Amino acid sequence: MRFLDKLMGWFSVDMGIDLGTCNTLVCVRGKGIVLNEPSVVAVKKGTNQVLQLKDGYAVGWVAKEMLGKTPGSISAIRPLKDGVISDFEITEAMLSYFINKVNGKGPFMRPRVVIAVPSGITAVEKRAVLDSAERAGARRVYLVEEPMAAGIGAKLPVVEATASMIVDIGGGTTEVAIISLADIAQCESIRVAGDDLDEAIISHMKKAYNLMIGEQTAEKIKIEIGSAVPMTGGPDSPDGQEKTMEVRGRDMISGLPRKTVVTSEEIRECLQEPLMQIVEAVTRTLEKAEPELAADLVDNGICLAGGGALLRGISTMIANSTGLDVRIADDPLTCVARGTAIYLEHLEEWKGTMESDLDAG
Ligand code: ADP
Ligand code: MG
Repeated sequence: MRFLDKLMGWFSVDMGIDLGTCNTLVCVRGKGIVLNEPSVVAVKKGTNQVLQLKDGYAVGWVAKEMLGKTPGSISAIRPLKDGVISDFEITEAMLSYFINKVNGKGPFMRPRVVIAVPSGITAVEKRAVLDSAERAGARRVYLVEEPMAAGIGAKLPVVEATASMIVDIGGGTTEVAIISLADIAQCESIRVAGDDLDEAIISHMKKAYNLMIGEQTAEKIKIEIGSAVPMTGGPDSPDGQEKTMEVRGRDMISGLPRKTVVTSEEIRECLQEPLMQIVEAVTRTLEKAEPELAADLVDNGICLAGGGALLRGISTMIANSTGLDVRIADDPLTCVARGTAIYLEHLEEWKGTMESDLDAG
C-alpha cells in the first residue's frame, strides 16, 4: 500500500482546493494557484444536467458568462451559494471538472486532495464532497474547515498555544473563528457576505431610482465605489476617497434602458445593514471566547480573509466595533487555497487532526 502510494505520487499532482461559494481555487505544491474559476455550473433548465458545449462542460468561467444572460432553456447555478450544497450532482460535476482540468486524465494520475469546505456544512454534505472527489479520481481526500485553511494561508500561528482570530468574508457565507493549538475553539458561520452586499445595492437602486440592475452590475458598484466607513481621502483614510459612478439598468416604470449616477455615500448607507450583521457575528464570537483566548486576541488582533475583506474600510469598521487591531491577509482571495496547499505539505504531521480521511484506494 505504502509503495503503491509512493508510486502513484510520482505520477500525480497533489492539490489543495478551496471550494468557495463564489470561487473555486486549486493550488498545487510548488506551482501555486493553478486554477481560479467561479463556482458556477450551467444546466438545462429544470434539470440537473450539466450543459455540454463543443469543448467540454459549461462550468466555471464559461458558465459565469451565462449568468443572467442565459436564454430560456439554460440556467446558471451556483451550487454552494449559501454555504450549503444545494445540489449534490451539480456540485460533483463541478468538482470533477476542476480536478480533471488540473490533473488531466489517466490511470496513474490519481492525486491526493485537500478540500476546504464551509464550516457550516452537514456531515451528509461532507460525505458528498468526499465521494465526489473520489469519483473525480482522487486517491485520498482530506477535508479541512475553511477558517482553519484561511488561518494557515494567512500565516497565523494556528498550531501554537495562542489564540488567532480569522474572519473570512466570502460570497455566500462569512466564517468567524478563533483558533488555537490547531483547533477551532469558537466559530460561527453566517449566511451574510458579499452576495448580500450586492443584493442591498440592487434593492437600493430600485427604491431610490426605480432602476433594475443585475447582480454583476451591483458587484461592480460595490467593488468600485463601495465602502464600510466614510472615505475621507486624507492621511487618516488609507482606504481612499468618495467616488461616484455611472450605472446602467432598466427603468421599472417605462421598462426602458436608462442610466444614473450613484455616490459612495449612498452605497455605504445601504451596505450598513448586512455589514452590521457581519460585525455582530464577530462580536458574538469574541463574547463566547474563553477569557485566556480573549486575552491573547488583545495582542494578536483579528485577521480578515476572503473577497469581502477587500471592501474599502471594512477593517476600520471591525476595529472600531471591537477595539482590536484588524489586518487584512495578503491576497485575501487566495488565502484559503494557499492554506490548503500548506496543509498538503504537512499532511503526515497533521493528518490526525483533520476532519475526515477517506481511503479511496
Ligand atoms: P467564496 O470563498 O465564498 O467563494 P471569495 O472569498 O472568493 O468567496 O469572495 C467573493 C466575494 O468577494 C464576492 O462577493 C465578491 O463580490 C467580493 N469581492 C471581491 N473583490 C472585492 C472588492 N475589491 N471589494 C469588495 N468585495 C469584493
Ligand atoms: Mg472562501
